[in-house]
Amino acid sequence: MKLLEERIRAEGRILSDKVLKVDAFLNHQVDTMLAVEIGREFARLFAHEHITKVLTIEASGIQFAMATGIALNVPFVYAKKKKAVTQGDQVYAASVHSFTRGETYQVSIVKDYLNPEDRVLIVDDFLATGAALVGLADIVAESGATLVGMGCVIEKTFQEGRGLIEERGIPVQSLARIVSMSPGQVEFTAEKPL
Ligand code: 5GP
Repeated sequence: MKLLEERIRAEGRILSDKVLKVDAFLNHQVDTMLAVEIGREFARLFAHEHITKVLTIEASGIQFAMATGIALNVPFVYAKKKKAVTQGDQVYAASVHSFTRGETYQVSIVKDYLNPEDRVLIVDDFLATGAALVGLADIVAESGATLVGMGCVIEKTFQEGRGLIEERGIPVQSLARIVSMSPGQVEFTAEKPL
């Protein structure tokens, strides 16, 4: 997505050769119109899949899952990282190791919100090690719903995430695929068509 690549080049900050900061427009302050465009693009890419639900993980996936849900006219659900007292015990859960925070946490979704009839698109802000997305894929498998694919806003192709997802036969589409990055220099590669 050209617009996204331009914003990453102009406003992204390279914290190391592996970590990109996009707080100014994607995941702390959010450019709402850019999020809407991202949602439209995911909806277009997976239009043929008869999606009934969009799934993400709190917090940084929420704005993109909501935009995608609006574009597809379906609900979105976000996995929670902390168990709330209101949640009860009827949850699907998976453990996820966070690459940026260096800790492992449990993500969960109340069982009522994923059903075997659902056709699910998973959406997230980054594809890095793939741990978050694999955790969500495990939850979808446990629920009996059909996972139709994954949409990632930014992929770092030099980390192992895509390999793990493709190994499982899950179609994945990333809107900006970074091959390498250093201050002042971000290289992208094109996505393969579905
Ligand atoms: P994973 O390693 O599971 O693919 O990525 C987990 C989460 O870490 C992503 O959803 C994203 O929130 C965060 N993350 C991974 N790499 C980066 C990065 O380079 N920059 C930022 N801001 N977040 C990242």
